[in-house]
Amino acid sequence: MRLGTIIDISLVDVPGIPVTVIFTAGCNFDCPYCQNAELIPLDSGHERTPEQIAKEAQGHLTDGYCITGGEPTIYGDLPELLRLLAVDEEKHINLNTQGSVPRILEQSMPYLDSVWLDFKTIPEKYQEIARTRRDPWPKVEESINMLLDSDVAFWPRTTYVGTLMTPDDIAGIMEALSRMGFKGSYLVQNYRASDGTRPDEVKGFTAPAVEELESAVASPPTGIEIRLEWR
Ligand code: SF4
Repeated sequence: MRLGTIIDISLVDVPGIPVTVIFTAGCNFDCPYCQNAELIPLDSGHERTPEQIAKEAQGHLTDGYCITGGEPTIYGDLPELLRLLAVDEEKHINLNTQGSVPRILEQSMPYLDSVWLDFKTIPEKYQEIARTRRDPWPKVEESINMLLDSDVAFWPRTTYVGTLMTPDDIAGIMEALSRMGFKGSYLVQNYRASDGTRPDEVKGFTAPAVEELESAVASPPTGIEIRLEWR
C-alpha cells in the first residue's frame, strides 16, 4: 500500500483515546472540498509493506491507532496491516473510510474496534460529490449494512459544505441511516478551507453558519442524536 505519513500522537481523532494516526495515500473519490487533497492521487505517498508501516507506527505512547487517508480500503493489504497492529490486544483500532470498498472492509472488520464512516451526502447525490465514474452509493450502502450487522462501533459523520449541501440533505442522510436501522450519534462537522484544500476547487465555497442546520437538528428520526461540531 502507499503511505502518506504517520502522526505519532493525536488526541482528536478517536474520542477519549490518544492514537497514532496512519495516513494512507491514494483515494478513489475526488471530493472537491477534500482537506487532504495531496493524498488523492493514486501515485502519491510512498510504497510501503504492511510490516514497514506497522513497525513505524508501533512503540508510541498511545492507546491505539487511527487509519485514515486517502482511502485505506483501496488497498488489498490493509487487513494485513490491521492484523499486525492488532497483535497488541489492548490497543484500540479505528478506521476512517467512505465505505466504497466493502470487500476490503469486510476482511478488515475482525481487527477493528470502531469506524468513522464519511457519509458524504444523500444517496441520490453521491456520484456528484464523489466525482466517480460509477455511482458509489450501492457499495457504500453495502458497507454501512455490514457495519450495522457487526460488533464494530459505527460512527457516521458528514462534512457540511454549505454551498454544496442543504439542510434537507442532512435530514435526508439521517432518514437514510434510520431506514437502515441505525440508532446512535451522527456527527456533522463544518467545512473550512485549510492548507490541504485545493484553492481552485474550493473557490466560492464558504464556511457554513451553524444556524443553517437548525431545522435539520430540530427533528431527527427516533433514536438518532445529531451532534454539530463547528470548528
Ligand atoms: S473520500 Fe476523503 S480523501 Fe477521498 S477525496 Fe473525498 S474527502 Fe478526500
